[in-house]
Amino acid sequence: MLSNRAARDVATLVHPYTNLSTFRETGPLVLERGHGVWVYDGDGRPYLEGMAGLWCTALGYSNEELVEAASEQLSRLPFTHLFSGRSHDPAIELAEALKELMPCPTSKVFFTSSGSEANDTQVKLLWYLNNALGQPRRKKIVSHVRGYHGVTVATASMTGLPANHADWDLPLPGFLHAGCPHHYRFAQAGESERDFSARLAADLDALIQREDPETIAAFVTEPVLGAGGAVVPPEGYFEAIQAVTERYGIRLVADEVICGFGRTGEWFGSQALGLRPDTISFAKAVTSGYMPLGGVSVDPALYDVLVAQSAKLGTFGHGTTYSGHPVACAVALKTLEIYRRDRIVEGVREKAPQFQARLSALAGHPIVGEARGIGLIGGLEIVADKASRAQFDPKAGVAARCVAFAQDEGLIVRFLAGDRIAVCPPLVIQPGEIDTLFERLGRALDRTAAWVAAEGLE
Ligand code: PMP
Repeated sequence: MLSNRAARDVATLVHPYTNLSTFRETGPLVLERGHGVWVYDGDGRPYLEGMAGLWCTALGYSNEELVEAASEQLSRLPFTHLFSGRSHDPAIELAEALKELMPCPTSKVFFTSSGSEANDTQVKLLWYLNNALGQPRRKKIVSHVRGYHGVTVATASMTGLPANHADWDLPLPGFLHAGCPHHYRFAQAGESERDFSARLAADLDALIQREDPETIAAFVTEPVLGAGGAVVPPEGYFEAIQAVTERYGIRLVADEVICGFGRTGEWFGSQALGLRPDTISFAKAVTSGYMPLGGVSVDPALYDVLVAQSAKLGTFGHGTTYSGHPVACAVALKTLEIYRRDRIVEGVREKAPQFQARLSALAGHPIVGEARGIGLIGGLEIVADKASRAQFDPKAGVAARCVAFAQDEGLIVRFLAGDRIAVCPPLVIQPGEIDTLFERLGRALDRTAAWVAAEGLE
């Protein structure tokens, strides 16, 4: 029986990324407030937010400095835009701060409101660039299976997950998917990480040859796969992939929407994983999730092309009303200041060994096939049989069940397609809270194993 509020929700909202059929029975988890790494439901019950919302609330839930930064900007100038040469200090200062941090050649920053819009902008900039350079055939975008890049028509096409393609008539033509860099799932028996990486790079090379290298604009990848399973690519992967993209003059786009701003223990995942991108997309933790903001880095050569095209065509015809929203920029500026001042990235490096040790220990659990991660991000692969790595029938929803048990234990984690579970707490989580997180996750796994046995699943 749903509460009154839950029934009103079910009667009125279409929830994103939700099983809209089962949801009618289960109803929503309505959260009312947050403090530190904790969020509280309508009954005041606390949950450890083990997903930092959606991989974004790096500074936790009660950061008064961010509230003040937003409030101050809301009072001063709640809205202006960057169209037609209009500007404001928060955007200028934020672009300056970001330029200093970027892990790729950057002369300018273009702001969006989300990660999807950032990656969509990347596609459009690549197409625009290649038209300007007289290479109109160079338009195809290669990403990989189980990469996640957003939900617009172009970025859902880049995404390599079935739920984003099936029945949406996607991917669009010209969006191609290379092999997924998940060693545990896709390596051949006895294949080392390096050999697996070399094979994926050879497959990418073959795909490019097949398509004609002159038609490929870019290879897009997350440094660590997020929604595709919280997977750290295997040793040698980016080295091998970069050798291929460089051979054909294909641009490398790093989607830093999850990895950016400290998640891996470096400012950007590219730095942690040895990736040398031509450009990056960012969002989420740039504001610690307190305001919607994303963007892309623009390198000097690309910017020169944009200027030259404007000299010919007039307007640079791209941008949204909220590209560089002043309140979002003010919050982002404060967020970056806090990251620096409070040594948040160094803090991730200090806490990562404990977090990763607790995560790895779960690999011993009877229904966990693999536990993997880096920094303060981790993923679990739920399996029916550890030896053969066989998975449960997807219809049984075992990972989803585990996440529901975790919620019952007072822990929020996220299930991902393919019976995977992601853990990605706020970066400000304390060592005692890391212990609490994994104790609760362990109990949720135990309850899931008992449920699996009771149901006779295999
Ligand atoms: N890229 C990555 C790596 C993401 O994880 C996400 C969102 N989870 C996106 C892009 C899309 O961002 P948004 O949901 O803000 O559009």
